[in-house]
Amino acid sequence: MTSAKKHIALLGSTGSIGTQALEVIASHPDQFEVEVLTAGSNAQLLIEQAQRFNPNVVVIGNEELYDHVFAALDPLDIKVYAGTAALCSVVQMDTIDMVLTALVGYAGLKPTIAAIEAKKHIALANKETLVVAGDLITSLARENAVNIYPVDSEHSAIFQCLVGEFHNPIEKIVLTASGGPFRGFDKVKLARVTKAQALKHPNWDMGAKITIDSASLMNKGLEVIEAKWLFALSARQIEVIVHPQSIVHSLVQFKDGSMKAQMGLPDMKLPIQYALAYPQRLSSDFPRFNFLDYPQLTFEQPDIETFRNLQLAYDAMNKGGNMPCILNAANEVAVEKFLNDDIGFLEMSDLIADCMHKVSFIEKPSYEDYVHSDLETRELAKALKY
Ligand code: NAD
Ligand code: MG
Repeated sequence: MTSAKKHIALLGSTGSIGTQALEVIASHPDQFEVEVLTAGSNAQLLIEQAQRFNPNVVVIGNEELYDHVFAALDPLDIKVYAGTAALCSVVQMDTIDMVLTALVGYAGLKPTIAAIEAKKHIALANKETLVVAGDLITSLARENAVNIYPVDSEHSAIFQCLVGEFHNPIEKIVLTASGGPFRGFDKVKLARVTKAQALKHPNWDMGAKITIDSASLMNKGLEVIEAKWLFALSARQIEVIVHPQSIVHSLVQFKDGSMKAQMGLPDMKLPIQYALAYPQRLSSDFPRFNFLDYPQLTFEQPDIETFRNLQLAYDAMNKGGNMPCILNAANEVAVEKFLNDDIGFLEMSDLIADCMHKVSFIEKPSYEDYVHSDLETRELAKALKY
């Protein structure tokens, strides 16, 4: 095949998704070219990646590290910028075909909007962007004829099941959840868990924030909201089932009752590669699934009374407006506080629920409203004591 290479801007290249995306790109040099690499503050890894992949531009988020990165990369004729504004302008470069958003948290919102406005297709790992402002992002994408390809494994699974079915109505989807390291724990046990325990995920090796979110089931809550926007679903069409082996990555049920699932060993490189290469399937040497290694695939109901975050996310989605934005900002602060040993595991849900009650509700938020709600929530969440 003689297709032109896809030129990729990789936001958050030094993270878990970012480094795996670079492995995918390195295995398919005939398919992809790295145009932009960006990182928050891991200057050393960013420099090494730039030396290897020779992008046009790199951006280091932390402006204090600019001189260091510039000194290393200027001799290679790689342009170096720093700060959030730079992130938003580099994603608009003419040479870029697709932007992979693999930075973490609310910080993804602004650069994603900038990329969509410049008509760049999005491979979306940064689920927080859709949680915060799903209505704004999906309508901007429609206006600009931009496609949003899911990188999150569950949403990639659903997307893969929908290929060839785009005109058939979805009855419901079922998102699978591993249940995390504390599956089966009651509140007494959960109150005592440490961050070291929470940072050990049974099936996936991920960044710290999403690992805590997975342990608290907030990750699944964020994914429910992400799915609502990606697949234009209502809350009652989105179910969650706990599946500890993480082999069935999610399922779709159509109006005739037929269900399709996408399966495989848990490996984020697969959904990353699918999003980057769609509609092609590229070859891979990822380990293959063997049924005999998994004689039992099991499924159980999530315990939303103990793991309140999942219920809080459904509540936020049902309320709509800026409530998911409030949920997200409160959660980002809660996770930070838990990682700093300021609050216990269960207090993360208390903090999020308190913010959802106290921050001003806006039914039809503008972009500025989201920025303001995010700030207001963070200030309150930082001040709350438990
Ligand atoms: P990570 O913490 O490992 O990496 C985050 C990356 O973003 C790093 O390169 C970091 O330097 C950069 N970054 C952080 N803060 C920044 C800021 N303020 N400005 C600019 N850059 C910043 O995170 P991750 O696990 O790779 O997750 C990235 C995103 O993908 C998250 O939204 C997460 O929910 C989503 N996701 C991750 C996985 C996974 O397996 N890791 C799976 C599904 C979805
Ligand atoms: Mg996921």
